[in-house]
Amino acid sequence: MEKIIDENKQGDSLVLDQKKDNQRKLYIESYGCQMNFSDSEIVASILAKEGFNTTQQMEEADLVLVNTCSIREKAEQTVRKRLEHFNAVKRINPKMKVGVLGCMAERLKSKFLEEEKIVDMVVGPDAYKDLPNLVAEIDEGRDAVNVILSKEETYGDVAPVRLNSNGVSAFVSITRGCDNMCTFCVVPFTRGRERSRDPQSIIEEIGDLWNRGFKEVTLLGQNVDSYLWYGGGLKKDFEKASEMQKATAVNFAGLLDMAATAFPKMRFRFSTSNPQDMTLDVIEAMAKHKNICKYIHLPVQSGSNRILKAMNRLHTREEYFELIDNIRRILPECAISQDMIAGFPTETEEDHQDTLSLMEYVKYDFGFMFAYSERPGTLAARKLEDDVPEDIKKRRLTEIINMQQKHSLYRTQQHLGKVEEVLIEGPSKKSDAHWMGRNTQNTVVVFPKEHYKVGEFVNVKINDCTSATLLGEAVGYSENNA
Ligand code: SF4
Repeated sequence: MEKIIDENKQGDSLVLDQKKDNQRKLYIESYGCQMNFSDSEIVASILAKEGFNTTQQMEEADLVLVNTCSIREKAEQTVRKRLEHFNAVKRINPKMKVGVLGCMAERLKSKFLEEEKIVDMVVGPDAYKDLPNLVAEIDEGRDAVNVILSKEETYGDVAPVRLNSNGVSAFVSITRGCDNMCTFCVVPFTRGRERSRDPQSIIEEIGDLWNRGFKEVTLLGQNVDSYLWYGGGLKKDFEKASEMQKATAVNFAGLLDMAATAFPKMRFRFSTSNPQDMTLDVIEAMAKHKNICKYIHLPVQSGSNRILKAMNRLHTREEYFELIDNIRRILPECAISQDMIAGFPTETEEDHQDTLSLMEYVKYDFGFMFAYSERPGTLAARKLEDDVPEDIKKRRLTEIINMQQKHSLYRTQQHLGKVEEVLIEGPSKKSDAHWMGRNTQNTVVVFPKEHYKVGEFVNVKINDCTSATLLGEAVGYSENNA
């Protein structure tokens, strides 16, 4: 959910780009992945041009939008609970109109209007530029729906309104959609085919962020490794491109090199990678540039070759180990995190042990681990019975989480006694006397504030740690502090 407060730069969140002449009020909540939070900034920008400023008070809003997630059943239930709450707010704010955005909107389409009476508008992830027309429709008292998926849309020409911003780090989306068709995943159905954004518009957006004092950018996509710009159009149509287009095409390693070279003092991160699409030149680009952070989120989902096949993950556990070995060889200090699913249909105890042994091999820094949740419309839901009993799913998930906990502590303990460069993002959640920031490995570091400020790069000596956080003391500014 997005808390929106107009504050100074002492580490509290900011709303940038509010227009003083705008009379109407937009309240927006976002759920799910970073892409959704980034999309909400696109939506706020499109509606700012229609006279809307963002507010955090739902009670005063003319338009209330929920950017929804559909990745697991629980995510959808969370949205439905919020819509129930909106009914109560509507009693004290009867003028408010309600719209649903994102993956659940795309999955349910106009059925959302039938199932949730409070909803006036349903807009899919590729239709946000139609919001001015759709808002005009609901202003007239009619329902409005647009869930058309696009082959071109990348919103590259929309300057996001930075919501819930710490003024230091920001998301920049570089691709939309996914062609990978993993059998458990709804994303290809809710976000369409892969298309990449013009690198020029990406560089311009980063330049704008740099000029406004931002120090870190996360390049976003469902599958950033398959970024490929060849003049516009779908990734899958690249083969039909002209020789000239092929010769001048920009892939992900090329984009990383371009951005890191153009802004040597800006820190770069990226998410999310897919092992079957990650290439050595991406890892080499990370090694070449000090300002590309040494952290890779590399979902694997299972350690069993039989299950990886059933998931349509186009790599084996051996090929995954080879990628991990290459990362460790070229980037010895690189942190790696995972996504894991416990209890995928037909998963046996042996498959589960393969997952645990893969984790033992990699010893991830951290991970996102869930029990399998059947998603309507996916190949797994259509072809495979959800046959692993809930109690076994739970037990296996607990074993995966416990192993990750052990490895996370093993990884954080590697930092003890070291001096780490940290970018200060804001106050520590636990103590107002302490700053929190991240090192290049994306590990949270907490240390006393002293005279340091948000947005500064500080060298911190690590004295202690938990499995998730490093604790230390500042020992001076980093050479990277502009
Ligand atoms: S790579 Fe697979 S899991 Fe990831 S978004 Fe694409 S289809 Fe879903």
